Amino acid sequence: MLKRKLCEATFQWRLKCKGPLLIADGRYSQNEVTKNFDNTEKKEKKGWYPDKFFSNRVGSDDMTKRIRDAGSNPPDKTWGFYVPATSIRGPFRAHAERIIRSLMHYAPHPFTACDPLEQDKENHKETLGCSCRLEKEVKEVSKYSVVCPACKLFGCAGLASRIYFIDAGIEDGYRSVYRDMIGIDRFTGGVYKGAGGANMRFHVLENTTFTTTVTITNFELWQLGLLAYVFRDFETGLVPIGFGKTKGFGAVKGSITEITLSYPNAITHIEHMGSLLSNATEREYYGIHTCAAPLFEHIKPINGGLSLYKSVTVTNIPAFWEKLAAKFNRYIEDLDRQVKENIT
Ligand SMILES: [Zn+2]
Repeated sequence: MLKRKLCEATFQWRLKCKGPLLIADGRYSQNEVTKNFDNTEKKEKKGWYPDKFFSNRVGSDDMTKRIRDAGSNPPDKTWGFYVPATSIRGPFRAHAERIIRSLMHYAPHPFTACDPLEQDKENHKETLGCSCRLEKEVKEVSKYSVVCPACKLFGCAGLASRIYFIDAGIEDGYRSVYRDMIGIDRFTGGVYKGAGGANMRFHVLENTTFTTTVTITNFELWQLGLLAYVFRDFETGLVPIGFGKTKGFGAVKGSITEITLSYPNAITHIEHMGSLLSNATEREYYGIHTCAAPLFEHIKPINGGLSLYKSVTVTNIPAFWEKLAAKFNRYIEDLDRQVKENIT
């Protein structure tokens, strides 16, 4: 995509989860902790090293040591719990794809969201991921112009993402607890009797609050409109995150507390990528339409000192979303028209 920054939107997004939240630390493995235990120690300590641990900033070796030393007490604040950006980004993208697919479910690629993991060209041509579809070089136009709507925003192999999330530290006021559960055997429906016994122990945090920053560089208006829908569904608690969704874990609710838009100093009013591209040839190369209507209202300048970019903050967030959601609706209508034209 473009090598220069034309515009940028930044969202402060605060998420809360009253019940259990488990963002599992990928470095932790129960086997690693218990591998040097002798049989007596294994027996004595059986049951209190959990199956999964909340993501934290303790070094891997130190983590193992702390777990061995801690007895049955759940870990405290000094562990530095946080939600990694990827754990927010994953469910966020999946939900955006779901929205696109539910509106364009009948459409062939690239008019609906691809399945990024699908690589079977023989049997699943219809749902093939964009990165796989694009293995042949595209010459006359940019990759951006030929990928599906989801990959335009989130990227795929060979095309960088334009949306970024940052790691979010957990604010004070949470509880760090162990949740013991009975493992259910998937085949018999009864209590699981395999290795490790029936009990599963999970380390979860309850009553958590955390804030991430979501940034989109070089946005098109419909992309902000898509975010309006994704953020709304997170606000109503429709999108769980982390491990154990079927156990009721990770029921987050998120709300936007601040929106900032930046654009080059030389421009007198806020714009989006379509109208900031230098000319029609460049727009065509990226497959982007311009949009003349002035869009951004309810904004207030931020005095940012010496900078090549001006920034404004949005003063009426609901009105902002409403206008942008309409842009996404128009974009979908346009895709729909293109599909019909292709068929006839
Ligand atoms: Zn795609």
